[in-house]
Amino acid sequence: MITTVGVLGAGQMGNGIAHVFAQYGYRVVLFDIAQAQLDKALATIGQNLERQAKKGAIAEALVGETLGRIVTTQDMAGLADVDIAVEAVSENEALKLEIFRKLDGIVKAGAILASNTSSIPITKIASVTGRPDRVIGMHFMNPVPVMKLVEVIRGHATSEETFAQTAALVARLEKEMAVSQDYPGFIVNRVLIPMINEAIFALYEGVASAEDIDKGMKLGTNQPMGPLTLADFIGLDTVLAIANVLYDGFKDPKYRPCPLLVKMVNAGHLGRKSGRGFYSY
Ligand code: NAD
Repeated sequence: MITTVGVLGAGQMGNGIAHVFAQYGYRVVLFDIAQAQLDKALATIGQNLERQAKKGAIAEALVGETLGRIVTTQDMAGLADVDIAVEAVSENEALKLEIFRKLDGIVKAGAILASNTSSIPITKIASVTGRPDRVIGMHFMNPVPVMKLVEVIRGHATSEETFAQTAALVARLEKEMAVSQDYPGFIVNRVLIPMINEAIFALYEGVASAEDIDKGMKLGTNQPMGPLTLADFIGLDTVLAIANVLYDGFKDPKYRPCPLLVKMVNAGHLGRKSGRGFYSY
């Protein structure tokens, strides 16, 4: 039975993942190399819980109870007894492989090792452990406490038991699951990023203005925002990185990143976070 969850990485995603597990009654051990990130994560979780309580989404008493279920550590040895570890460290393949190699030697036998990676093959991550059957992808969406979806990715060696336990866990968090095999971009980025890239090509080729491309897609296909606005939200560097994962992974020119996207990233126009992308902020 899963009662204790390890979360590796206390950044944007890690704090959200720790938040939801603790909110649904799991004991959480949150690990990061940076104490400042752990402190910031606890503060963020507290603020987000308070906001949920104010809106009436959760009971006020749950704020303190949830925070009380989370302990933090800068020592990976603190994860020895968890029933599942969910890794959400920076998206760097060498780093993730090193973390999983080490984690496999620390976490008790039989525990599940999950990764929140957006683009690194689960099969490759699993291959550096002695338990590839217990490794799986759990791809949460940002912001984790709000977004309903978890993409669950089966690695080449992921067992049925690991999959079934992970599926049950997603349901316990009251989230919906979309199951993907382990191919570049999984489901969501495989479809989303080429759409955004095509919108950038349309702008690049002078088909229409950024405003009209977004208006067309927003009102014409009933999306909450247009693809260029969404790209500015995600960060153009991240969009380009994922586009390159698709391009390199499939070796298919249909995924080639638009030259305008590459140029904007080179210029440092990364979207909202840099104050300028397809729009100014
Ligand atoms: P982030 O930069 O906000 O957080 C990364 C955290 O990892 C930092 O707190 C950092 O201190 C920590 N870290 C770095 N090296 C470490 C190490 N050796 N040991 C322990 N901790 C270490 O990144 P993020 O946006 O939270 O992304 C984390 C993962 O989630 C990535 O794999 C990313 O692809 C994936 N993801 C991100 C999003 C998103 O929208 N941001 C969505 C889905 C999935």
